[in-house]
Amino acid sequence: MLQESKIPERISRLEELANNLWWSWHTQARALFRTLDYPLWRLSGHNPVRQLHEISSDKLATAVADPAFIKLYDSVMSAFDADMSDRGSWFSGKYPNVLHGPVAYFSMEFAIHNSLPIYAGGLGVLAGDTCKEASDLGLPLVGVGFMYPQGYFHQHISAEGWQEEHYSQLDFDEAPINPVNPVHRSKWCGPLVQIRLGDRLSHIGVWQVRLGRVNLYLMCCDVEGNIPEDQQLCARLYTADPEQRIQQEIVLGIGGVRVLRALGIKPSVWHANEGHCAFMMLERVREEMERGASFAEALRNVQAATVFTTHTQVAAGHDIFPVSLVEKYFRTYWESTGINRETFLELGRQDGASDQAFNMTVLGLKMAGHRNAVSQIHGRITRKMWHGLWPEVKEDEVPISHITNGIHTPTWVAREMGGVYEKHLGHDVSKRYDDTTLQELVINIPDEELWAVHQVLKRKLIGAMVERARQCSTERECKARQVLAMGSLLDQDTLTIGFVRRFAAYKRPELVFHDTERLKRIVTDRWHPVQIIFAGKSHPADLPSKQLLHDVYTLATNREFQGRIAFVEDYDIHMAHYLVQGVDVWLNTPRRHYEACGTSGMKAAGNGVLHLSVRGGWWHEGYNGANGWVIQDEVEAHDPGEEDTSDAKTLYRLLEEEIVPLYYQRDRNGVPHGWVHMVKEAINSIVPRFCARRMLKEYIEQMYIPAARK
Ligand SMILES: *Cc1c(COP(=O)(O)O)cnc(C)c1O
Repeated sequence: MLQESKIPERISRLEELANNLWWSWHTQARALFRTLDYPLWRLSGHNPVRQLHEISSDKLATAVADPAFIKLYDSVMSAFDADMSDRGSWFSGKYPNVLHGPVAYFSMEFAIHNSLPIYAGGLGVLAGDTCKEASDLGLPLVGVGFMYPQGYFHQHISAEGWQEEHYSQLDFDEAPINPVNPVHRSKWCGPLVQIRLGDRLSHIGVWQVRLGRVNLYLMCCDVEGNIPEDQQLCARLYTADPEQRIQQEIVLGIGGVRVLRALGIKPSVWHANEGHCAFMMLERVREEMERGASFAEALRNVQAATVFTTHTQVAAGHDIFPVSLVEKYFRTYWESTGINRETFLELGRQDGASDQAFNMTVLGLKMAGHRNAVSQIHGRITRKMWHGLWPEVKEDEVPISHITNGIHTPTWVAREMGGVYEKHLGHDVSKRYDDTTLQELVINIPDEELWAVHQVLKRKLIGAMVERARQCSTERECKARQVLAMGSLLDQDTLTIGFVRRFAAYKRPELVFHDTERLKRIVTDRWHPVQIIFAGKSHPADLPSKQLLHDVYTLATNREFQGRIAFVEDYDIHMAHYLVQGVDVWLNTPRRHYEACGTSGMKAAGNGVLHLSVRGGWWHEGYNGANGWVIQDEVEAHDPGEEDTSDAKTLYRLLEEEIVPLYYQRDRNGVPHGWVHMVKEAINSIVPRFCARRMLKEYIEQMYIPAARK
């Protein structure tokens, strides 16, 4: 690209492919880089940009001379070209000429691949999965977000069980990003647009990421001409300081609109993924008023073309700024448009709440004409929560609908499992995961085959954990306790439960330890033992959550559990792949009505991992009585303590009476047919409904097309 290429002409498009993350969700394309230089592929962290930087000319020469490699190369490139052209896509076939410009999708974080660590959790995964699916469906979409050179932190756990945070600086030259406006020979961003941050002007540079047909524009404040404070502004995701947060959100919302304008992109629909990006609606009102519209007209026009998705149903989860900060950063802004202070502040004011608070969710709800929650139950709770904004209608008529989240199945299904699906469901299954008739064919997969693939994936997970434990003990000089906690005593043949998610009190990671004696009996049963794998990060500023992590770690490493409980450090999308693909049961125990949807259980289901969860979020819609287990409210709980006790009892009972016996009930060859039947039922009932393909089609039909038509 910027340098002379050392790649032979015959395979020169490897570079183009490496710079389009399309490769990351296509099995053959991954195989291409894997076979090119396997050790380097692993050493580079599955990052082809870095791999091509470091690869030797010998390896390249060998590849060019290998007919099998050339055949694979040609096949990948023709699939790539077919996907990159607009002809024959689902969207262009079904809705020709409906959108006059792309959907602009704004999000604070995007989780796409480990080589781009600019996400913290589920919100980012949803955004990344949405972009990939948009490319697959042929929906014109551009993403707008941030380039955080230090991203989110890496997690180590000390021998005493305390989370330690480490930040590393991304090497731009080895990331799958390119500057939109390069100012140096190496990768570096030049300023593209300006925004006002309080009393100063700040420059924004932009990186481009290619995801198939979708372009993602990541803003960067570390550009020449900015004061050091601004250069550092976007270094990290989710800083705790509210002033930095509001500055970041101004860059995202207002800067994001200006970036699209500067690039000549004319969106027909604007989608805000959560409240962090709601300032983009304000900027568009300002633009309309600059062109002569009244505030009321401008607001109406912006509402008509704007979609807002809310993800949070916990009051503390909303993004709220003190009015004093809003005054500081927006006074000049509203004065320049002619909006008065009161009108401006009213946009973020929650009915009945303090008038000193400016709520970003309220701003989004008021300024977007198309609003949705992310699951059926979340829709109901959200309508109740925001009834005050629409006092004139009944609660169930509050204009917030729901579209249940889904996962980008080709990203999350293991290569080995995908191979089984292709063999038995059809070679084009990866483009038809939302086809319910196709998924019914799962029943035809021989039990032995499905079980054998699951064993392979489980072995990979345990292998990866043991490898980390080995590295920890040699390179970081970890103590024996840490090596044990990392899973060095895990066993392939033992029923394995995963509890893997952000550490937050409402997710109740400690619930399974409610009665340690009973848990001990379950875990250490001589003939039918159980293993539990924990993983998850605490937000660095969330001290109660760090304490919780410490408590869980301490319990897990208690010798009496015989090394059957493990804690995987530094949960990220790479480790998430191993975990959702390799455990037997996916455990989810949030306090009722705290989890808006959840998606990790959907990833597990796609890999034949059974879900054991409280009824809530997506599982309320997904559970059918035969595709996993639900932790029901057996008694009406009156307080959180009662709820914990009741749920823990149900959890133990399900494990003792249903899950453990079913898992260990084997035929002569060791295959648990009853278990595998349940797995098939889970795949058949969950995969077609909880995939991003179904989800994005609903966004298109219920949100984007109506928004584009107005
Ligand atoms: C899927 C995923 C999440 C979201 O998990 P939930 O617990 O379902 O909200 C978070 N982090 C990573 C790394 C993921 O892959």
